[in-house]
Amino acid sequence: MPILYWFKNDLRLHDNEALYRAVDSGKKVLIMYCIDVEAYRYLDLGFRKADKVRHQFLLQCLTDLKEQLKALGGNLLVVQGNPVIEIPELIERYGISEILAEEEHADEELKMVGRVRDALPNSCALNFYWGRTLYHKDDIPYVIDEIPLVSKTYRIKTTKETEVRVCLPKISAIDFYELQEYGNLPNFETLVVNSSKGQSTEPFVKGGEREALQRLQHYFYDTEQLTAYKWTRNKSMGMDYSSKFSPYLALGCISTRYIYHEVKKYEAQTKKKYGTWWFVFELVWRDFFIFRHMRVGSKLYSKKGFKGKKVEFENSKELFDIWCDGETGIPFVDAHMRQLNQSGYMSNRGRVNCSSFLIHDYKIDWRWGAAYFESKLIDYDVSVNWMNWHMQAFEIWYTNPVHQSKKYKAQAYIRKWVPELAALNDVDILIPWESDLETYPRPVELLSKWQRSINLIKKVKTKENAQ
Ligand code: FAD
Repeated sequence: MPILYWFKNDLRLHDNEALYRAVDSGKKVLIMYCIDVEAYRYLDLGFRKADKVRHQFLLQCLTDLKEQLKALGGNLLVVQGNPVIEIPELIERYGISEILAEEEHADEELKMVGRVRDALPNSCALNFYWGRTLYHKDDIPYVIDEIPLVSKTYRIKTTKETEVRVCLPKISAIDFYELQEYGNLPNFETLVVNSSKGQSTEPFVKGGEREALQRLQHYFYDTEQLTAYKWTRNKSMGMDYSSKFSPYLALGCISTRYIYHEVKKYEAQTKKKYGTWWFVFELVWRDFFIFRHMRVGSKLYSKKGFKGKKVEFENSKELFDIWCDGETGIPFVDAHMRQLNQSGYMSNRGRVNCSSFLIHDYKIDWRWGAAYFESKLIDYDVSVNWMNWHMQAFEIWYTNPVHQSKKYKAQAYIRKWVPELAALNDVDILIPWESDLETYPRPVELLSKWQRSINLIKKVKTKENAQ
């Protein structure tokens, strides 16, 4: 009897425990991915739960996986529909005795796999293996219900007491269960009914395991950018100020453990550790959000957050739409939102500013913003996205986007993404409302808390004029 390997957000052949166990079982393996059309449904907020750019990135990842499986003499079965219906049908058609897959941890995903389990015949087992984090969930010094809610408490004890497991080898041979037909990879327009043409989009990086591994080679070894990470990570313009691993981590094209062990190799080879500590810190941070999400469960998605904080939002849909479109009149926010809309990516600095602006300046429910990021980000990760939004709403200080555009010298970045401001000089481009433009919106309100930063920016101009 064959077994079924169900690929989800673990689209790689290296260091993939669930896949490794399937291949190691000595049985024929049918390898499958299920594209669930429901993932692209329209939300009441007026956009799709996952939009086109995310699908484009997914297709690139699946194409890469298909090609790699073909090179091993097999193929990837691509099924379209609801996994709760499609998977039991496959089980019956091919007499499958066991399904293996990566373990889920978030509410919606757990409910989905629970429904699949309920729909299976008793003769078929469904077995999961953990694979999303740097530290295995069984190795950290906490049970999930006792994960500290404060990052430092979690980080210090965990990094001191936990070893990162070694990577499992890349799969190089599979005893495939063969089929006549493997299904096509549907593009967005054929998948989704009434898909309007809309804005043209292109994922910021190309998807796939092989692209991910090349990206690591480039960022670590070819350019040694990793050494500079600590000092460059807050920029927004270009490819190499940060690793751009997040889209690959989100769909599992690269394993976090693999990245970690490469960092250690890099440190040994280059004798440089300045940037690497910060880099690993971010990977630990990502783990923390995943484990903390497991602890708080669906309370994370509540308006008051998992700590039940008192909040009052005004929720203007008009302001929300302006923010989504990158038409707020605040260039630092608009440039980032436009980049997100076209490429499915935004720097961490951008995400901090755009989320803070939506919540604290526009006074809009943080969950609307989180849902919009979910729709667009090619690196969308349920825990990382919702936990970061939660932080911006309830756990950290306000970020002033006028001040930050000056601090991070965002002029070139703004010129790239807000071309109607391109002709302005380095001062005017940060405060375009002073220039009376017809082609770019004025902010709905100039907040008094920005005034000091505006004055500082203007001061540069006064100084330049005086010289
Ligand atoms: P690098 O700076 O090179 O960092 C390396 C890796 O560390 C990243 O790939 C990521 O896995 C992890 N990391 C870095 N920063 C963070 C962080 N703040 N929180 C958790 N992990 C981090 N990241 C996602 O992967 N998916 C999301 O859906 C997501 N949504 C976000 C929403 C908001 C409001 C904010 C403020 C941040 C969000 N982030 C998200 C975190 C961060 O912005 C991205 O991980 C980072 O910008 C990705 O670029 P990079 O891979 O070049 O990061």
